[in-house]
Amino acid sequence: MKGTSRIMIIAIDGPSGAGKSTVAKLVSKKLGFEYIDTGAMYRALAYKACKNNVEINEKNSEKLVNNTNIDYFNNSIYLDGDNVDNYIRDENISKAASKISALENVRIKMVTLQRNIAKNKSVILDGRDIGTHVFPNANYKFFITASVEERAKRRYNQLKSENFNVDYDNILADIFKRDENDTNREISPLRIADDAIIIDTTDMKIEDVVNYIINFIGGNTCYIK
Ligand code: C5P
Repeated sequence: MKGTSRIMIIAIDGPSGAGKSTVAKLVSKKLGFEYIDTGAMYRALAYKACKNNVEINEKNSEKLVNNTNIDYFNNSIYLDGDNVDNYIRDENISKAASKISALENVRIKMVTLQRNIAKNKSVILDGRDIGTHVFPNANYKFFITASVEERAKRRYNQLKSENFNVDYDNILADIFKRDENDTNREISPLRIADDAIIIDTTDMKIEDVVNYIINFIGGNTCYIK
């Protein structure tokens, strides 16, 4: 374990649909740490842009970012004081979040927010740039991935179970597109940090991934919650 601080930061990065949030939430419960879903923060801003018919570009996002209050606590996302958990998960918002997250002023604001929310406590964060940029000195870094087909299958099954009318090929194409946006954007692209532990979950169950992480952290339980 790096550093001497009694605060522990766990970074979980990886591509869309790899199960990062589910794993991070379960690990945070087991450890009693706060969980921060950084993707939800980009989604909340994208939701506001869509709701107000604001075209997503660098110029418009400046005003949007300066006039928006985003917070994340108790596993919920707040936009200008309102809980928007139920409005940020549909496919339109996923696409808009992917677009808005490539803008420099948006990333600067979100990273500052993420560092502030995580101040003085042990946290587990999931996203794309946590181990490479937001917390390059995180105590533990995991990169959770899975084949693109498996990620599309999981998303398809999840949406079907929620009674959405879905098409596997559309979902697969969408995941390809989001991977492309995340890895090719100029600012903080999705990268595996040099010191990250890679977990390919294609053939793993969620509980196996959670146990792997908990076992990896092992006896390093000397931290502040
Ligand atoms: O993880 P999730 O799919 O909810 O993230 C929504 C979008 O926000 C992603 O498409 C990704 O492009 C972006 N994102 C990001 N950096 C993060 C977290 C999410 O660029 N740390």
